[in-house]
Amino acid sequence: MPSFAQLLEERPVLIADGATGTNYQDMGIAPGVAPEEWVLDEPGNVTALHRSFVEAGSDLVLTCTFGASSLRLADGPLAGRAAELNRSAAELARAAVGEDVLVAGSIGPTGHLSDPLGPLTRRLAVSTFAEQAEALATGGVDLLVLETFFSLDEGLWAVEGIRGASDLPLVVSYSFDQGTRTMMGLRPAEVVAAFAPLGIAAVGANCGKSLADTDVIVDELLAVAGDLPLWVKPNAGVPRIVGDTVVYDADPATHAAHLAAYAANGARIVGGCCGSTPAHIAALASALSRSPVNRPG
Ligand SMILES: [Zn+2]
Repeated sequence: MPSFAQLLEERPVLIADGATGTNYQDMGIAPGVAPEEWVLDEPGNVTALHRSFVEAGSDLVLTCTFGASSLRLADGPLAGRAAELNRSAAELARAAVGEDVLVAGSIGPTGHLSDPLGPLTRRLAVSTFAEQAEALATGGVDLLVLETFFSLDEGLWAVEGIRGASDLPLVVSYSFDQGTRTMMGLRPAEVVAAFAPLGIAAVGANCGKSLADTDVIVDELLAVAGDLPLWVKPNAGVPRIVGDTVVYDADPATHAAHLAAYAANGARIVGGCCGSTPAHIAALASALSRSPVNRPG
């Protein structure tokens, strides 16, 4: 089984997967049910989406654990089951994709603002993220990904907690959804400056808002990232309400064209976030002249 570092060395660009939540909506997840609940209740659907992305060309898939920290689960039906859930999600992803595709353990923010704006203290954050990282590692993930972060404190505390629990490669990805800044006002260069010295495996941007904004964000990240690999997983454009459904405005070809340009400019890992389907990843593989049956290596 290749490591994240080996694949980065062997291939000019790695293809990640697309969205989890919006694809589960397309697959019929009931309103109000968190995606993480499907790990235990509908594992066949979780497996099916992982496999769809691999068939489309993904070199790595993310576990369905974005909201699976114990703090985020605390008020829902999975309260107290974070360790079991993260381990199960990792095992499920591995069983779905086999040994030649990387499994990345997804870790999202806790959903609480950090002290003094909210109840999240350093101590609580460190222990929460350590617990999630340890369970994902036990379940067999190849790397860990902090994704859709927005606050500097919470991201730094997450890295501290994870480092205390695991030596796995760690990707740090922020959501710059206010133009080119995060909800807390962080700029791309500030994220790189804060995390590059911490020995992370890649830095990047995911989710966000429009692809035009992501174009600017990627330029800003590339300008300062140096040798640190860049991870880019944007939404499929901006969501619009059409009738009673949410539609993302970037079709697969448009999304893929932006991502192929990021790769051409130096991004090393590209994929999609909200609204990006297996068809978006297939278009990306094709734009990169890659297909699952014609992979380098
Ligand atoms: Zn997203």
